[in-house]
Amino acid sequence: MFTKILYPTDFSECANAAIPYIKLMKKTGARELIILHVVDIRHSTIIDTTAFGETFVYPYDISDILKKEAEKQMNNLKKQLSKVYKVTPLIIEGIPFKEIITIAEQKKVSCIIMGSHGKSNIEEMLLGSVTEKVVRKSTMPCLVVKRHQRFSS
Ligand code: ATP
Ligand code: MN
Repeated sequence: MFTKILYPTDFSECANAAIPYIKLMKKTGARELIILHVVDIRHSTIIDTTAFGETFVYPYDISDILKKEAEKQMNNLKKQLSKVYKVTPLIIEGIPFKEIITIAEQKKVSCIIMGSHGKSNIEEMLLGSVTEKVVRKSTMPCLVVKRHQRFSS
């Protein structure tokens, strides 16, 4: 039924909470897994106000640093999940919810599995903003795994 799964992740603990459920989906006939990390272009420039003892403002592009860090995390995930699925790792730049929806449609996945929260993990929020937008706009089923979810198979 759910042959091809899309797992968008920011590599946070909340996103990792989805992993046991992703593995379980094998029992529903899942065979392929796309792991997607979006390097948020809105966070890839920093403004440093002090350099060489002077104070001035300049934009500094850290997207290469972010991508390198993401590659390390992605490799770990790929190693772990390749034991269960044919894994396609994807790291792309953009606005996370938009890229998640675009990839889901382009790759014709059967469902999206993601965490309810991510890196920010604000206690009062019912859902993180990325999850909320993906659930709102997605044309395919979404499985949202809550933080602190007690896993039972
Ligand atoms: P917010 O970002 O709104 O402050 P948050 O960080 O707690 O809140 P989200 O960013 O919505 O929550 O994260 C929820 C889920 O969305 C994550 O568990 C992950 O599955 C997915 N996600 C978040 N950011 C990204 C990203 N940059 N790339 C891929 N997936 C992401
Ligand atoms: Mn977030």
